[in-house]
Amino acid sequence: MNQRPLPKGKGKGIFPIEKFRKIETPFYYYDTQLLRDTLRAINTEVGKHEGFCVHYAIKANANPKVLNIICQAGLGADCVSGGEIRACISAGFPARKIVYAGVGKSDWEINLGLDNDIFCFNVESIPELEVINELASAKGKIARVAFRLNPNIGAHTHANITTGLAENKFGIAMRDMETVISKADKLTNVKFVGLHFHIGSQILDMGDFEALCNRVNDLQNQLESHHIHVEHINVGGGLGVDYEHPNRVPIPDFKSYFDTYARKLKLRHGQTLHFELGRAVVAQCGSLITRTLYIKEGSYKKFAIVDAGFPDLIRPALYQAYHKIENISSDEPFEAYDVVGPICESTDVFAKHIDINRTHRGDLIALRSAGAYGEIMASGYNCRQLPKGYITEDL
Ligand SMILES: *Cc1c(COP(=O)(O)O)cnc(C)c1O
Repeated sequence: MNQRPLPKGKGKGIFPIEKFRKIETPFYYYDTQLLRDTLRAINTEVGKHEGFCVHYAIKANANPKVLNIICQAGLGADCVSGGEIRACISAGFPARKIVYAGVGKSDWEINLGLDNDIFCFNVESIPELEVINELASAKGKIARVAFRLNPNIGAHTHANITTGLAENKFGIAMRDMETVISKADKLTNVKFVGLHFHIGSQILDMGDFEALCNRVNDLQNQLESHHIHVEHINVGGGLGVDYEHPNRVPIPDFKSYFDTYARKLKLRHGQTLHFELGRAVVAQCGSLITRTLYIKEGSYKKFAIVDAGFPDLIRPALYQAYHKIENISSDEPFEAYDVVGPICESTDVFAKHIDINRTHRGDLIALRSAGAYGEIMASGYNCRQLPKGYITEDL
């Protein structure tokens, strides 16, 4: 494909464009300096609060090189499947820092957690509790369990990614909490150690997290009146990122996030507070890099047809998600395009009527903030190859 000369200064500091030119598109690129800076920001803020522990929600991105960097920063892991438990263990996460949630854990997955002595199973129903007890008993082990409660809090986010409403399938209803706890008390091979919550994703309004804190405080008071003490509280993840301004806000506001919990959530003596951050850790460091294949002039608009499609990045098709799009190999004047993929589906559109530098066949196009729920959700639809993921050190 034609290689036009690179405009001076374009993409400097953000993308190694000359190196990109040698790579087959589409691919994911992870800026490891930004990832490390993000992890440092998390550790700095968390370090200010006693008893706070962060688990990385590996479902956001399980690229082994990305995982390795996160593991080196000392975070624990939050898994939602046996495959994720395996991925975390092979990346080097200590099993005692792994929490395992999920509304439908199968027997082999529970056994895998038991064999590795993970920190905690976040349990979502009584039948699940009974199965864990039975499988633990067969191994002569005692499983540590937390109950995932559904706090019936709506987060101000996309309807498809709220999880803490009574209508959602997740968790145990608040009114059943005491029944479940007394049930656990009677079972010999589970130990009730914590309460777990997760209200949704891409949350930017600290008021939503405050509402969760208030709910947790009420619950703790209620439990205390029954002389029930829990060892830890896990408030899940959900902190959002600025998809509109990946350059201006590359690192989420972890200070406000952790300060909100420190101020509002009343931890009891010796209790630890656990977080499960996914998107906020990895979204901004990743971009999907694609090439313009063709420019098609519609009757009243222009289409930039690129070589990535929804099999490579499904968020726009699945949630009408916005990703900032940049033509990183041109500084020609801005023009409006619909940026679309090659797949035969009307939803295979990354953005409609957006302004990017005038583009030609062969230009490199970056879809920004694609580090979370990007590569990991890719499929081989249309017998396409899965996009490869490169970190800065690979190039
Ligand atoms: C998805 C999920 C997370 C991570 O959510 P983010 O919005 O990516 O931070 C954390 N905990 C549980 C239980 C989840 O299902």
